Amino acid sequence: MSTTTSKRPAARQGKASARPIPMYCSQPLQTARQFDSAVAAGRARAILASEKKWVNGTSIRYYCFKRGDAVPAAWQGSAADLAAVDKAFDAWAQLGIGIGFQRVDAAEDAAVRIGFSPQDGSWSYVGRDVLGIRDPLQRTMNFGWSLATAYGADTALHEIGHTLGLEHEHQNPHAGITWNREAVIAYFKGPPNNWDDAQIEWNILRKIPAGQVKGTTWDPDSVMEYSFDAGLIEAPAKYQAGVSPKGGLSYADKSWVVESYPGVRAPATLQLKVGLSQLLKLKAGETRNFEFVPTRTRTYQIATFGTSDTVLVLFEVTPEGNLQIGGNDDSGTDLNARVAIRLTRGRRYLVGVRLYYADAVMETSLMAW
Ligand SMILES: [Zn+2]
Repeated sequence: MSTTTSKRPAARQGKASARPIPMYCSQPLQTARQFDSAVAAGRARAILASEKKWVNGTSIRYYCFKRGDAVPAAWQGSAADLAAVDKAFDAWAQLGIGIGFQRVDAAEDAAVRIGFSPQDGSWSYVGRDVLGIRDPLQRTMNFGWSLATAYGADTALHEIGHTLGLEHEHQNPHAGITWNREAVIAYFKGPPNNWDDAQIEWNILRKIPAGQVKGTTWDPDSVMEYSFDAGLIEAPAKYQAGVSPKGGLSYADKSWVVESYPGVRAPATLQLKVGLSQLLKLKAGETRNFEFVPTRTRTYQIATFGTSDTVLVLFEVTPEGNLQIGGNDDSGTDLNARVAIRLTRGRRYLVGVRLYYADAVMETSLMAW
């Protein structure tokens, strides 16, 4: 039998690969954000570059659907599934980033809600887009196959990568990939993926704008990269034989997450005092946290000033992590980010600000009153 195989022409041998076609992550389709015509292109690009990222200091609470929940039985994970998910969150957390992860016991307490339906493939919403899925009985992430294999463990890291704000690496325009469109369509339309045209366009063929991807070069070893069989990529020529990421988090994956969410390297938290404005001194994409300890229990206004696009998030510091209690995103509008909220005397709060864009770096400030 092996003699017959070896006599096949090389091209046909590639197509008759022994490897079964794997199942791939299929992201939910989204509509592109539309900006008001008054928003200049450079400003829109700056907003899009970091709008999906979390504000540093966020503790992301996640919930895994399990037996007894009021969701379809197929979504419910086993104890082994839950342990695999915990392990993958922990692998990201171990990098010492400024984002915490906490598994909670009630779906309504979680921003990230995870199902395990084998009928729905594997996917996750990207970054802060998960906050748009508010129904506690809806998923922001699903695992469509076993997490118990090496491929499954990488899938868990990959979907959490999406939740942290990462996109697919093969859609990075810096990869310079020219696809063999017919081959790609035939491959993904077939079993076991059975995707339609829109899914193939969204997850494979579409290029993601340069400002929204991880780096300025392609990282074929990224956990956000798929493995591809021979014959799907036409250029670069080196990848005509396929792409095989080495597995796990790549060096560039790790440096992206540490730069996006600095942990131990973050500058010391600044103090916010009532009635005193603080200059943010942020460059586009950067975040800063301010500690606020109210001396009276009352409703406070916390807002940014200046011509800038910011996202402002208010956390209460609790023993379980930083609990998000308020927030406002003013990007793409002429308004400033502003939160009005009742705070309790003596408790510790953190005000996190991410600057998307500013006319002048030194002219945006933050005040509580
Ligand atoms: Zn994916």
